[in-house]
Parts: sequence; structure tokens; C-alpha cells
Amino acid sequence: MSRIAFLGLGHMGLPMALNLVKAGHEVHGFDLVPAAIEAAQAAGITIASSGADAVAGSDVVITMFPAGKHVISAYQDELLAAAAPGTLFIESSTIAVDEAQAAHALAIAAGHRNIDAPVSGGVVGAENATLAFMVGASDEDFAAALPLLEAMGKRIVHCGGPGLGQAAKVCNNMILAVSQIVVGEAFVLGERLGLSHDALYDVAANASGQCWALTTNCPVPGPVPTSPANREYQPGFAGALMAKDLGLALKAIEQTSTDARMGRLAQELYATFAAGEGGGRDFSGIITDIRDGQ
Ligand code: NAD
Repeated sequence: MSRIAFLGLGHMGLPMALNLVKAGHEVHGFDLVPAAIEAAQAAGITIASSGADAVAGSDVVITMFPAGKHVISAYQDELLAAAAPGTLFIESSTIAVDEAQAAHALAIAAGHRNIDAPVSGGVVGAENATLAFMVGASDEDFAAALPLLEAMGKRIVHCGGPGLGQAAKVCNNMILAVSQIVVGEAFVLGERLGLSHDALYDVAANASGQCWALTTNCPVPGPVPTSPANREYQPGFAGALMAKDLGLALKAIEQTSTDARMGRLAQELYATFAAGEGGGRDFSGIITDIRDGQ
């Protein structure tokens, strides 16, 4: 059993922390927002009086914050100084690759260990402990973190050294964004050619057009009854989160001078989608922008 400081008890953090409690760990949680603290307390998490208080005396610190700037400032302002030497910092927020590497360097300079372990699988995955973790870590730190990640997730992939968990996350989500757009385009094109949704689905789902954006997150109602299109694009995975992740992909594309024109275009399209009502809708709802376009 470990004593774990869990910081950031939002949509993802709270159910993840609860799964660690279920697995028998001693979890001390903290969040900046009173409503998140109240919800966590009601769910049975022990709440510390501050981030530093949660960290003091813990063997492991898990952060699940909105963005990289929150991670870097929390590390610098209080967490690293409050931790006992050699504490294992597991950073699970989705942040830029260079921010993950900067957080790693800060933790190492302060005498600690650090891994990046972003997730996919959403709130349902967090609740059911079926998250996928993409991990950037040394072999030794990966082995130390593995039992904890297994308590919160189902598929844990060691992607390489520090930062490479975040690299895998941005690359995967860039594939997802581009494929969700083109699946939407194909359905709208099919509509205009007189092709029914069911007919296109039956062909593509069993042919070389097969992909998750089609067979799980089908952007038209009907063929896949559980997809967000059947509930007016209630997320699912919200457009705002996809736009955020593509912003991180764009940063990586620019830093590496990669000729990723599809990824760049997906970033533009999702930034526009998320700036309107799409921010709160499932990202497959981009099909309505495509249908409304010329
Ligand atoms: P959220 O906004 O619901 O929760 C983040 C929490 O962190 C907030 O409650 C906030 O108050 C807290 N916080 C910020 N700074 C803090 C600090 N210094 N100390 C303590 N608490 C602090 O966000 P979320 O949906 O839980 O997502 C968390 C991360 O996971 C994000 O990086 C997101 O991109 C990623 N992610 C989310 C999903 C999803 O479906 N929601 C899926 C995969 C990955």
C-alpha cells in the first residue's frame, strides 16, 4: 500500500482517486475549487488543507490538472519543495511534450522521480478503471508506477523516456481528429449522392474505411446506437478537449518542423468548432459544420 497525494479532483481526478482508495491505498486529495473538494469528501476521499499538506509524507504524487501551466506552477510553487526526497511524481494531465519534459527536469532537479502518464478513455474509463495510460518513464520508474496505474486503468503502455507518453497521446488524438472529420465528410458526401447512412456504414465498417470514428463514434444516428450522434452529440469527448489536444499537437508539429498538413487542418477546424456550441458537444458533431458548409 502507498500513501498517495492526489491533486486535481475534477471530472477525471475524482474517479481515479476513488479507484486507488478501492485498491487499498491511503489517498490524500486536494483541489483548488471548493465544489470539487465537497464532491470528493462526499465520495469518501480524505481531503488535505493544501497541495503541500497532501504531498508531505506521501510516497507518490499524482496530478490531474487542466493544462501544463497548472502543472509547472504547482510543481514550482509548492509541491516539489513539500515532498520527501525521492518521491514519485506521476503527471497524468494532458500537457505539451515540452511541458512534460520541463516538469520532469524540475522534479529531477529537486531530487524526485517523475513520469508522464496521460490517459484516454474519458470519465467513463476513469470511473470503471478502464483508462489507457501512455507512459513516458525510465524502466525503474515505470515498474514502480505500474501497480498504481493498473488500479486506475486497463491498458498501460510504456512509450519510452520522459515526455514520450504525451507524445503518444498527441499523435493518437491527431489520428482520431483527422479520421472523425473525414468520416463526417464521407457521410455528408454520401447524403448528397443519394446514399443512405446504413448502406455507407455497412460498406465502410466492413471494408478499408473501417476506423474507431466510424464504428464506435459514428457521427450520424442509427448505425451505432451508442454513439453520441444518437443523443444530440452529448459528449463523449467534448469538442473543447479535442481542440485543446490539437493545440498541443500543433505545437509539437511546429517544434519538429513536421509536414503534417492534415493535422494542421484538423487543428484549425476543431478550433472553429470549439469556439461555438461545439465546445460542449461531442467532437463527432463537427459533421453538422460540414453539412452546413458549402
Ligand atoms: P477538470 O477541469 O474537471 O479537473 C481539473 C481539476 O484540477 C479542477 O478541479 C481544478 O480546480 C484542479 N486544479 C487546477 N490546479 C490545481 C492545483 N494547483 N491544485 C489542486 N487542484 C488544481 O478536468 P478533467 O476533465 O478532469 O481533465 C483533467 C486532465 O485530463 C486534462 O488535462 C484533460 O485534458 C485530461 N483528459 C480529460 C478527459 C476527459 O474526458 N475529461 C479525457 C482524457 C484526458
